[in-house]
Amino acid sequence: MKKLTHPRTMQRLARSWQREGLPVALVPTMGALHAGHASLIKHARRRVGEAGRVIVSLFVNPTQFGPQEDFQRYPRSEAADLKLCRSLGVDAAFTPKIESIYPSEAGRAFSTFVKEASLSQGMEGDTRPLHFQGVATVVMILFQVTQPSLAVFGEKDFQQAAVIKRMVRDLWLPIETIVSPTVREPDGLAISSRNAYLVPEERRHASILWQCIERARARVRGRIDPTPAAPLRQSLTRQIRNAPGAELDYIQFFDPDTLRPQTQLRKNHRIALAVRFGHTRLIDNGAL
Ligand code: AMP
Repeated sequence: MKKLTHPRTMQRLARSWQREGLPVALVPTMGALHAGHASLIKHARRRVGEAGRVIVSLFVNPTQFGPQEDFQRYPRSEAADLKLCRSLGVDAAFTPKIESIYPSEAGRAFSTFVKEASLSQGMEGDTRPLHFQGVATVVMILFQVTQPSLAVFGEKDFQQAAVIKRMVRDLWLPIETIVSPTVREPDGLAISSRNAYLVPEERRHASILWQCIERARARVRGRIDPTPAAPLRQSLTRQIRNAPGAELDYIQFFDPDTLRPQTQLRKNHRIALAVRFGHTRLIDNGAL
Protein backbone atom coordinates (compact mmCIF):
# COMPACT_ATOMS: atom_id res chain seq x y z
CA MET A 1 0.00 0.00 0.00
CA LYS A 2 1.24 3.46 -0.86
CA LYS A 3 0.78 6.32 1.60
CA LEU A 4 0.58 9.73 -0.03
CA THR A 5 0.37 13.01 1.79
CA HIS A 6 0.68 15.56 -0.99
CA PRO A 7 -2.22 16.16 -3.42
CA ARG A 8 0.25 16.52 -6.31
CA THR A 9 1.81 13.07 -5.80
CA MET A 10 -1.61 11.50 -5.20
CA GLN A 11 -2.93 13.06 -8.40
CA ARG A 12 0.10 11.87 -10.39
CA LEU A 13 -0.40 8.30 -9.22
CA ALA A 14 -4.16 8.46 -9.89
CA ARG A 15 -3.57 9.78 -13.41
CA SER A 16 -1.08 7.00 -14.15
CA TRP A 17 -3.71 4.43 -13.11
CA GLN A 18 -6.25 6.21 -15.26
CA ARG A 19 -3.90 6.07 -18.28
CA GLU A 20 -3.54 2.33 -17.72
CA GLY A 21 -7.31 2.11 -17.96
CA LEU A 22 -7.73 0.74 -14.42
CA PRO A 23 -11.00 1.31 -12.55
CA VAL A 24 -10.29 3.43 -9.48
CA ALA A 25 -12.55 3.61 -6.42
CA LEU A 26 -12.34 6.29 -3.74
CA VAL A 27 -13.59 5.85 -0.18
CA PRO A 28 -13.49 9.26 1.53
CA THR A 29 -13.21 9.10 5.34
CA MET A 30 -12.19 11.22 8.30
CA GLY A 31 -10.12 8.34 9.71
CA ALA A 32 -10.72 6.70 13.11
CA LEU A 33 -11.71 3.78 10.92
CA HIS A 34 -14.24 1.20 12.11
CA ALA A 35 -16.31 -1.67 10.72
CA GLY A 36 -18.55 0.77 8.80
CA HIS A 37 -15.58 2.15 6.90
CA ALA A 38 -14.25 -1.39 6.37
CA SER A 39 -17.49 -2.42 4.72
CA LEU A 40 -17.25 0.57 2.33
CA ILE A 41 -13.68 -0.41 1.45
CA LYS A 42 -14.74 -4.03 0.78
CA HIS A 43 -17.64 -2.74 -1.31
CA ALA A 44 -15.20 -0.63 -3.32
CA ARG A 45 -12.93 -3.64 -3.89
CA ARG A 46 -15.82 -5.81 -5.06
CA ARG A 47 -16.76 -3.14 -7.57
CA VAL A 48 -13.30 -2.52 -9.08
CA GLY A 49 -12.13 -6.15 -8.90
CA GLU A 50 -8.66 -7.41 -8.07
CA ALA A 51 -7.10 -5.54 -10.99
CA GLY A 52 -8.66 -2.21 -10.01
CA ARG A 53 -7.34 0.29 -7.48
CA VAL A 54 -8.87 1.36 -4.17
CA ILE A 55 -7.94 4.68 -2.59
CA VAL A 56 -8.96 5.59 0.97
CA SER A 57 -8.64 9.21 2.00
CA LEU A 58 -8.11 9.96 5.68
CA PHE A 59 -8.71 13.63 6.37
CA VAL A 60 -10.51 15.35 9.22
CA ASN A 61 -11.95 18.17 7.16
CA PRO A 62 -12.08 21.39 9.18
CA THR A 63 -14.54 23.20 6.86
CA GLN A 64 -17.38 20.77 7.62
CA PHE A 65 -17.24 21.45 11.38
CA GLY A 66 -19.04 24.39 12.96
CA PRO A 67 -17.11 26.68 15.34
CA GLN A 68 -18.68 25.01 18.42
CA GLU A 69 -18.24 21.47 17.08
CA ASP A 70 -15.75 18.71 17.82
CA PHE A 71 -13.04 19.32 15.20
CA GLN A 72 -10.24 19.58 17.78
CA ARG A 73 -11.23 16.50 19.75
CA TYR A 74 -12.36 14.36 16.80
CA PRO A 75 -10.66 10.94 17.27
CA ARG A 76 -7.45 10.46 15.30
CA SER A 77 -5.73 7.08 14.94
CA GLU A 78 -3.62 7.14 11.80
CA ALA A 79 -1.35 4.19 12.59
CA ALA A 80 -4.30 1.85 13.27
CA ASP A 81 -6.15 3.23 10.22
CA LEU A 82 -3.22 2.50 7.92
CA LYS A 83 -2.92 -1.00 9.37
CA LEU A 84 -6.59 -1.69 8.69
CA CYS A 85 -6.32 -0.30 5.15
CA ARG A 86 -3.31 -2.51 4.48
CA SER A 87 -5.13 -5.57 5.79
CA LEU A 88 -8.05 -4.82 3.47
CA GLY A 89 -5.80 -4.60 0.41
CA VAL A 90 -6.15 -0.86 -0.11
CA ASP A 91 -3.79 0.38 -2.84
CA ALA A 92 -3.31 3.94 -1.66
CA ALA A 93 -4.05 5.84 1.54
CA PHE A 94 -4.26 9.58 0.98
CA THR A 95 -3.49 11.47 4.21
CA PRO A 96 -3.14 15.14 3.29
CA LYS A 97 -2.15 17.89 5.71
CA ILE A 98 -4.72 20.64 6.27
CA GLU A 99 -2.36 23.21 4.77
CA SER A 100 -2.02 21.33 1.48
CA ILE A 101 -5.81 21.13 1.05
CA TYR A 102 -6.58 24.61 2.36
CA PRO A 103 -3.49 26.80 1.87
CA SER A 104 -3.67 29.88 4.04
CA GLU A 105 -0.59 31.96 3.20
CA ALA A 106 -1.37 35.61 2.70
CA GLY A 107 -2.19 36.34 -0.92
CA ARG A 108 -2.92 32.74 -1.92
CA ALA A 109 -5.38 31.54 0.68
CA PHE A 110 -8.02 28.99 -0.36
CA SER A 111 -11.22 30.73 -1.51
CA THR A 112 -13.32 28.38 -3.69
CA PHE A 113 -16.33 26.51 -2.28
CA VAL A 114 -18.97 24.16 -3.67
CA LYS A 115 -22.49 24.76 -2.43
CA GLU A 116 -25.42 22.45 -3.15
CA ALA A 117 -28.46 24.61 -2.53
CA SER A 118 -31.45 22.27 -2.25
CA LEU A 119 -30.87 18.87 -0.64
CA SER A 120 -28.47 20.40 1.86
CA GLN A 121 -31.35 22.39 3.40
CA GLY A 122 -33.20 20.87 6.36
CA MET A 123 -32.19 18.12 8.79
CA GLU A 124 -28.38 18.25 9.22
CA GLY A 125 -28.30 21.49 7.21
CA ASP A 126 -30.54 23.24 9.76
CA THR A 127 -28.41 22.28 12.75
CA ARG A 128 -25.07 22.59 10.91
CA PRO A 129 -25.41 25.52 8.47
CA LEU A 130 -22.07 25.28 6.61
CA HIS A 131 -21.60 21.54 7.03
CA PHE A 132 -22.63 20.41 3.55
CA GLN A 133 -20.72 23.21 1.85
CA GLY A 134 -17.63 21.93 3.66
CA VAL A 135 -18.43 18.34 2.67
CA ALA A 136 -19.16 19.12 -0.99
CA THR A 137 -16.02 21.24 -1.25
CA VAL A 138 -13.67 18.65 0.22
CA VAL A 139 -15.25 15.78 -1.74
CA MET A 140 -14.84 17.81 -4.94
CA ILE A 141 -11.16 18.36 -4.09
CA LEU A 142 -10.73 14.65 -3.30
CA PHE A 143 -12.40 13.74 -6.60
CA GLN A 144 -10.04 16.03 -8.51
CA VAL A 145 -6.98 14.74 -6.71
CA THR A 146 -7.82 11.01 -6.89
CA GLN A 147 -9.66 10.95 -10.25
CA PRO A 148 -11.89 8.00 -9.30
CA SER A 149 -14.29 6.22 -11.63
CA LEU A 150 -16.44 5.39 -8.61
CA ALA A 151 -16.79 6.59 -5.04
CA VAL A 152 -18.41 4.83 -2.09
CA PHE A 153 -20.39 6.59 0.64
CA GLY A 154 -22.33 5.25 3.63
CA GLU A 155 -26.09 5.25 3.98
CA LYS A 156 -25.48 6.21 7.62
CA ASP A 157 -25.06 9.78 6.30
CA PHE A 158 -28.01 9.63 3.93
CA GLN A 159 -28.34 13.38 3.36
CA GLN A 160 -24.60 13.68 2.71
CA ALA A 161 -24.75 10.93 0.07
CA ALA A 162 -27.75 12.67 -1.55
CA VAL A 163 -25.89 16.00 -1.67
CA ILE A 164 -22.84 14.35 -3.24
CA LYS A 165 -24.95 12.52 -5.82
CA ARG A 166 -26.62 15.81 -6.74
CA MET A 167 -23.23 17.55 -7.06
CA VAL A 168 -21.99 14.74 -9.30
CA ARG A 169 -25.08 15.01 -11.48
CA ASP A 170 -25.25 18.80 -11.64
CA LEU A 171 -21.55 19.27 -12.38
CA TRP A 172 -21.30 16.30 -14.79
CA LEU A 173 -18.56 14.62 -12.81
CA PRO A 174 -17.71 11.31 -14.55
CA ILE A 175 -17.98 9.36 -11.30
CA GLU A 176 -20.37 6.64 -10.22
CA THR A 177 -21.48 7.18 -6.62
CA ILE A 178 -22.41 4.10 -4.61
CA VAL A 179 -24.24 4.15 -1.29
CA SER A 180 -23.40 1.25 1.01
CA PRO A 181 -25.66 0.00 3.87
CA THR A 182 -25.18 1.10 7.48
CA VAL A 183 -23.16 -1.27 9.67
CA ARG A 184 -24.57 -1.59 13.20
CA GLU A 185 -23.60 -2.84 16.63
CA PRO A 186 -25.54 -5.88 17.89
CA ASP A 187 -28.03 -3.58 19.69
CA GLY A 188 -28.66 -1.61 16.51
CA LEU A 189 -26.51 1.46 17.23
CA ALA A 190 -24.97 2.64 13.95
CA ILE A 191 -21.19 2.32 14.22
CA SER A 192 -19.58 5.77 14.27
CA SER A 193 -16.23 7.27 15.18
CA ARG A 194 -18.17 9.54 17.58
CA ASN A 195 -19.48 6.54 19.57
CA ALA A 196 -16.06 6.57 21.26
CA TYR A 197 -17.14 9.76 23.08
CA LEU A 198 -20.02 7.99 24.86
CA VAL A 199 -19.55 7.06 28.52
CA PRO A 200 -20.91 3.57 29.39
CA GLU A 201 -24.21 4.94 30.71
CA GLU A 202 -24.78 6.95 27.49
CA ARG A 203 -23.72 4.02 25.35
CA ARG A 204 -26.37 1.84 27.00
CA HIS A 205 -29.11 4.27 25.98
CA ALA A 206 -27.69 5.18 22.54
CA SER A 207 -29.60 2.35 20.84
CA ILE A 208 -32.69 4.58 21.28
CA LEU A 209 -32.08 5.92 17.74
CA TRP A 210 -32.35 2.44 16.26
CA GLN A 211 -35.35 1.61 18.45
CA CYS A 212 -37.13 4.69 17.08
CA ILE A 213 -36.37 3.65 13.50
CA GLU A 214 -37.71 0.16 14.15
CA ARG A 215 -40.80 1.48 15.88
CA ALA A 216 -41.57 3.88 13.05
CA ARG A 217 -41.06 1.08 10.56
CA ALA A 218 -43.39 -1.23 12.47
CA ARG A 219 -46.09 1.47 12.39
CA VAL A 220 -45.85 2.07 8.64
CA ARG A 221 -45.14 -1.40 7.24
CA GLY A 222 -47.95 -3.62 6.15
CA ARG A 223 -50.53 -0.84 6.08
CA ILE A 224 -52.54 0.05 3.03
CA ASP A 225 -53.36 3.58 4.22
CA PRO A 226 -50.58 6.09 4.82
CA THR A 227 -49.58 6.68 8.45
CA PRO A 228 -49.90 10.28 9.74
CA ALA A 229 -46.46 11.60 10.73
CA ALA A 230 -47.46 13.96 13.58
CA PRO A 231 -48.67 11.41 16.18
CA LEU A 232 -45.81 9.08 15.32
CA ARG A 233 -43.31 11.92 15.83
CA GLN A 234 -44.94 12.69 19.18
CA SER A 235 -44.70 9.16 20.44
CA LEU A 236 -41.06 8.81 19.31
CA THR A 237 -40.24 12.14 20.93
CA ARG A 238 -41.71 10.83 24.20
CA GLN A 239 -39.69 7.66 23.88
CA ILE A 240 -36.47 9.67 23.48
CA ARG A 241 -37.35 11.93 26.43
CA ASN A 242 -37.62 8.79 28.54
CA ALA A 243 -34.12 7.63 27.65
CA PRO A 244 -31.77 8.97 30.39
CA GLY A 245 -29.31 11.55 29.04
CA ALA A 246 -30.87 11.73 25.56
CA GLU A 247 -31.83 15.10 24.11
CA LEU A 248 -33.65 15.15 20.79
CA ASP A 249 -32.33 17.44 18.07
CA TYR A 250 -34.77 16.43 15.32
CA ILE A 251 -36.91 13.64 13.91
CA GLN A 252 -37.70 13.98 10.23
CA PHE A 253 -39.78 11.83 7.90
CA PHE A 254 -38.79 12.44 4.31
CA ASP A 255 -38.90 11.35 0.69
CA PRO A 256 -35.62 9.57 -0.22
CA ASP A 257 -35.25 11.38 -3.56
CA THR A 258 -36.23 14.96 -2.75
CA LEU A 259 -35.51 14.80 1.01
CA ARG A 260 -38.73 16.82 1.45
CA PRO A 261 -40.55 16.36 4.77
CA GLN A 262 -43.62 14.14 4.60
CA THR A 263 -46.80 14.28 6.65
CA GLN A 264 -48.38 11.06 5.36
CA LEU A 265 -45.96 8.15 5.53
CA ARG A 266 -45.55 5.18 3.25
CA LYS A 267 -42.94 2.52 3.27
CA ASN A 268 -40.73 4.09 0.62
CA HIS A 269 -40.27 7.13 2.91
CA ARG A 270 -37.45 7.37 5.45
CA ILE A 271 -36.96 8.55 8.99
CA ALA A 272 -33.84 10.45 10.08
CA LEU A 273 -33.03 11.57 13.58
CA ALA A 274 -30.33 13.33 15.58
CA VAL A 275 -29.99 12.88 19.33
CA ARG A 276 -27.48 14.39 21.73
CA PHE A 277 -25.95 12.59 24.70
CA GLY A 278 -24.03 15.26 26.59
CA HIS A 279 -21.58 16.73 24.05
CA THR A 280 -22.00 13.80 21.66
CA ARG A 281 -24.39 14.18 18.75
CA LEU A 282 -25.54 10.95 17.08
CA ILE A 283 -27.45 10.66 13.79
CA ASP A 284 -29.15 7.73 12.12
CA ASN A 285 -31.76 7.01 9.47
CA GLY A 286 -33.60 4.14 7.89
CA ALA A 287 -36.30 3.18 5.43
CA LEU A 288 -39.81 2.91 6.81
P1 AMP B 1 -16.67 9.57 8.27
O1 AMP B 1 -15.29 9.06 8.48
O2 AMP B 1 -17.52 9.54 9.49
O3 AMP B 1 -16.71 10.90 7.54
O4 AMP B 1 -17.37 8.53 7.29
C1 AMP B 1 -16.77 8.19 6.06
C2 AMP B 1 -17.75 7.38 5.27
O5 AMP B 1 -18.10 6.20 6.01
C3 AMP B 1 -19.06 8.14 5.00
O6 AMP B 1 -19.48 7.85 3.68
C4 AMP B 1 -19.99 7.54 6.02
O7 AMP B 1 -21.35 7.58 5.63
C5 AMP B 1 -19.50 6.11 6.08
N1 AMP B 1 -19.90 5.46 7.34
C6 AMP B 1 -19.74 5.94 8.59
N2 AMP B 1 -20.27 5.09 9.49
C7 AMP B 1 -20.80 4.06 8.79
C8 AMP B 1 -21.51 2.87 9.14
N3 AMP B 1 -21.77 2.56 10.42
N4 AMP B 1 -21.91 2.05 8.15
C9 AMP B 1 -21.64 2.35 6.86
N5 AMP B 1 -20.98 3.45 6.45
C10 AMP B 1 -20.57 4.30 7.41
